[in-house]
Amino acid sequence: MSILDDLRQHKILLSDGAWGTFLQAKGIEPGECPELWNITHRTEVLNIASSYLEAGCDIIETNSFGGSRFKLAQYGLSDRVFELNETSALISREAAGKNKYVAGSVGPTGKMLLMGDVTEYELYDAFGNQAAALEKGGADIIIIETMSDLDEASIAVKAAREYTKCTVILTMTFSKTLKGEYRTMMGATPEEMVVEMKNAGAHIIGSNCGNGIEEMIGIVKIIRNIDKDIPVMIQANAGVPELVDGKTVFRESPQMMASFVPELIKAGVNIIGGCCGTTPEHIREIGKALGR
Ligand SMILES: [Zn+2]
Repeated sequence: MSILDDLRQHKILLSDGAWGTFLQAKGIEPGECPELWNITHRTEVLNIASSYLEAGCDIIETNSFGGSRFKLAQYGLSDRVFELNETSALISREAAGKNKYVAGSVGPTGKMLLMGDVTEYELYDAFGNQAAALEKGGADIIIIETMSDLDEASIAVKAAREYTKCTVILTMTFSKTLKGEYRTMMGATPEEMVVEMKNAGAHIIGSNCGNGIEEMIGIVKIIRNIDKDIPVMIQANAGVPELVDGKTVFRESPQMMASFVPELIKAGVNIIGGCCGTTPEHIREIGKALGR
């Protein structure tokens, strides 16, 4: 059964939480390539996936957020796109078994179309190859996340649709402006996301990162105002990051995050998980709030 069938039965699904901050907790140092850990620290990566599955998630992501050739080039690894992405999906699939969904994570390339850093075709080709490797390793979903540029996001969605048979999720990162509007770093609104990402072929849309769970309620309402049907996914941070003694901390406890779940459901969410600072304990509490 595909995740879309699952969602059509009016179920609310639970995704995993943070990977980046979890890798840091496992000892990854600044300057290390997270995706190389799929080879050099396979056990630790597998352990992250297993921890979230034990917490009850239905969807587990992969350690491939920076797995595009542009991101890997920063570490001199651009010739290992296929291997590193395929392995990330093999690891999450190993942890998930057959009955859970594996969502291959695809993040921004860091290249700006607007600045002429890169051509549309180069982006399309890079996203397509990454997605294909994730599918080969066992992903049934491609999740394109933390996007802020509509054009880059739309190219990524089209490439994932055309290079794979996977369900495609697209989430963007918004923050609230002084005027009280939600905008991405590149100025995109949730309304624009809905229209453009549906056009590009995204099956599921939503928002991740940037906000704690309370702010996400407003984003879901905006999406639902203009689209009653498209499944919506939310992965909130464990609150807004704060700098304490040179360390980034996320203060929202699992219980605090879980307390907003009923309102998020009322607003019309379909998939809930976590982003930066969330842990298996956060996912377990959110699961309880979903009646698990
Ligand atoms: Zn995040």
